[in-house]
Amino acid sequence: MSRLPLVAIIGRPNVGKSTLFNRLIRRREAIVDDQPGVTRDRKVAPVEWRGAVFEVMDTGGYLPITSDVFLASIRDQVNRAIQEADLLLFLTDAVEGVTPVDQEIAQIVRSSERKVLLVVNKVDNRKTEEQIYDFYQLGLGDPIPISAEQGKGIGDLLDTITENLPHLGEKREEAVEAVHLAVVGKPNVGKSSFLNRLIGEEKVLVTDIPGTTRDSVDVRFRFFGHDIVLIDTAGLRKKSRIKDSVEYFSTVRTLRSIERADVAVVMIDATEGLTHQDKAVLAQAVAHKKGIVLAVNKWDLVKKDEKTLAAYENELKAQLGNLDYIPILMISCKTGLRVQQVLQTALSVYQERKKRVSTAELNEKIGTVLREQPPLVKDAKPVKVHYLTQVRSAPPVFALFTNRPRAIGANYRRFVEKKIREQFGFFGVPITLAVRKK
Ligand code: GDP
Ligand code: GDP
Repeated sequence: MSRLPLVAIIGRPNVGKSTLFNRLIRRREAIVDDQPGVTRDRKVAPVEWRGAVFEVMDTGGYLPITSDVFLASIRDQVNRAIQEADLLLFLTDAVEGVTPVDQEIAQIVRSSERKVLLVVNKVDNRKTEEQIYDFYQLGLGDPIPISAEQGKGIGDLLDTITENLPHLGEKREEAVEAVHLAVVGKPNVGKSSFLNRLIGEEKVLVTDIPGTTRDSVDVRFRFFGHDIVLIDTAGLRKKSRIKDSVEYFSTVRTLRSIERADVAVVMIDATEGLTHQDKAVLAQAVAHKKGIVLAVNKWDLVKKDEKTLAAYENELKAQLGNLDYIPILMISCKTGLRVQQVLQTALSVYQERKKRVSTAELNEKIGTVLREQPPLVKDAKPVKVHYLTQVRSAPPVFALFTNRPRAIGANYRRFVEKKIREQFGFFGVPITLAVRKK
């Protein structure tokens, strides 16, 4: 999946990385609001400049300042930026001059293949202007003077950034594709714990998305090379204190999230099993033909021996009935068990939902079976099943051609669906079968 070019701001603490970040994205405050329990060390946001679009990442965050792991975490931060970004902005501080940590960072950057712009911040006046010559010793070319606080030199910096970004124009068009995920379930199953787990994970870069309301903040992040948008994180975090809102959050808000999603992660509580309310949420996801992953949370609370998992899963499958194609994951947001796997499974389901099977393949693999086993009818005129074709994807819709559409009942539809799944998977994805007269 392609993405926008990524520019990472690196540098030691206090040089002004987050001030520059906010200046570049034209906002005064940090873009991700501070939620207790959500730790993050990086922020990403889109920047538009003279028609070019890229993303900027602040690698700052909460580095340990005094401890002996300080240098190690700086190195780690810089190395991750080198791996992920297309261009590095190495930010330094004119007031403090070149420090040993700057030299350390310069050395890591020089030995990488990554393009870097050496930026000297806090050049607020004449006196600091003269300091910038000092920075030539870092061996990273001409230092670019700016004052992030006063907004000086930012336009020139943006020009230089866009000149140095590879394939800026080419990537723009295709860069928007992202997998939209809704995490849904009744109150207290662990949805917000799930969110906190994910956002605390190393692999996840957080952005908010402009245009979404404050009331429903979507969070965009990258996960193993994929862009994922988590829908309505504000809704996940919001605690329902009054009884009425329980109803509200479990219906209106859930529905809205499901509608916007490609894949719904339906979360249930392992200690309660599949309840009525859970079934209602599942039914909504099915009705909207969304990809579905069933996450059974709080697995840590279940007393278990070596047979528990299989038994629990079988029991659930039986309760799911026709929805037995939905992948089930026993997870724990408390311990982190399989939390990442939920995302991985959701990505697979997303691909399954987009899948297209050719008519030739369909008929080669299951055409004969269908023709040989048409629905049995009591009257004299036999039902003929001619062929099956996939007419669309995401969500997948199949058309079955027959001489007698009315004779194709629910049982036969299930039979066809089962055959499709046996041969082609489509796991986690509701299949629609349209019956046509031929
Ligand atoms: P970070 O730790 O690298 O993200 O740095 P911050 O953005 O938090 O900035 C550290 C300090 O430097 C803050 O007190 C800022 O107000 C200050 N600062 C940032 N940019 C400038 C600047 O252009 N000039 C001056 N004088 N101070 C700045
Ligand atoms: P939400 O209402 O769906 O967002 O649920 P929360 O994330 O607020 O979780 C509800 C309660 O369940 C909190 O007390 C969590 O600490 C707890 N919880 C969440 N996930 C787990 C888990 O995996 N194991 C255990 N034991 N408790 C959990």
